[in-house]
Amino acid sequence: MKRILPLLLLMLLCACVNSPSPKTRKAVLVIVDGIPAQTMERLQPPTMMSIAHQGRYHRAYCGGEKGSYSETPTVSAIGYTNILTGTWMNKHNVTGNDNLSPNYHYPTLFRIAKDQSRHVTTALYSSWLDNRTVLLGENKDETRGLTIDYVFDGYDHDKTNYPDEKDDLHIQKIDGRVCQEAAQSIRNDAPDLSWIYLWYPDDAFHAHGHGTFTDKAVMTVDEQLAPVWEAVQYRMREKDEEWLVVVVTDHGRGFDGHHHGGQSADERTVWVITNQRRSNRQFFRPTFSHVDINPTICQWMGFQVPEEVALERDGISFIGKTDIYDLKVEPYDNTVQLRWQHEGPNTTATVYLATTNDFSTGGHDQWQKIAEVPAKQKNVSIDLSPYGDSKFFKFAVKTPYVTLNRWLKR
Ligand SMILES: [Zn+2]
Repeated sequence: MKRILPLLLLMLLCACVNSPSPKTRKAVLVIVDGIPAQTMERLQPPTMMSIAHQGRYHRAYCGGEKGSYSETPTVSAIGYTNILTGTWMNKHNVTGNDNLSPNYHYPTLFRIAKDQSRHVTTALYSSWLDNRTVLLGENKDETRGLTIDYVFDGYDHDKTNYPDEKDDLHIQKIDGRVCQEAAQSIRNDAPDLSWIYLWYPDDAFHAHGHGTFTDKAVMTVDEQLAPVWEAVQYRMREKDEEWLVVVVTDHGRGFDGHHHGGQSADERTVWVITNQRRSNRQFFRPTFSHVDINPTICQWMGFQVPEEVALERDGISFIGKTDIYDLKVEPYDNTVQLRWQHEGPNTTATVYLATTNDFSTGGHDQWQKIAEVPAKQKNVSIDLSPYGDSKFFKFAVKTPYVTLNRWLKR
């Protein structure tokens, strides 16, 4: 033993020296506007399918919960904000494409990135200027002066280089420019968190619906994305970096492909592509949605998210460990049943309740811990009589891996 012990120590030391340091993680979010899932699946656009081939493709939903407090129109800027904040419209308050007043108390991925104790670099490559000036809220007091390190946008206001064209084809050219800038910047600067926004497919569908014109528009945007994907692959090959790519659309469309905004099954159906095969089961569940992307990117990047923010996010990560999902609230007289689904590790679920919504105005809610049960129990009954005639409740169920929340108004 006396001779073995130094040997063991030596082996341990060698193992430590030889084990590779973890690779630097980076994330790219790509929102391609308004491409229906059926079109993606029929055309199999080669760049996006090449990303999916390394990782995964799956349908997901947008539009919040139909008929409930979180129902959310299937409209573009609303969709981007679902994705950026991990919340539905009842929280983020982006209610259309203009006259926007986002509730910045629900932080975007960009605000979360800049709140980290380490330095995190961010980039925006966007065909629509308002993504920076309004949705992310660069340099606004309400976003505590959010800064973005690399910006390529504003071409939609550059009528000299991009004058209006028939069928809005100048927007397609802008998408191409944005992709070129993004590819070069990712290759050279490798920002930790990037968002690429491409606009044209939505315009094409509005004008032409399903058909050869929009098929071509989808194949063109896919081709425009090719250098971006090549740049990411270059970084992964040549540098000590690991990249998460998430490509998503902001809404589905009505049956003929022209319109969107409503709550039909087609309009609520979106799709998500990731280059990471290490997804968990959330990627395949019927509850997979827009609001899962913010928690996923935060998880991937190892971002610290304040507890009170985590308690508000409506989605869960599709990478990493997972256990509970699909929280439901069933009131009955002065009690309420909380029900959830469970698969995976036997964890403990802690249940919290708040009767205020001060978070939405910049304040802090007093979350009370009201129960602790095995997560696999999948339900708990709460007596509401101690809360008098309170008409509003926020419930949260938390395990070591997942936080779910749900409102009850009565
Ligand atoms: Zn859209």
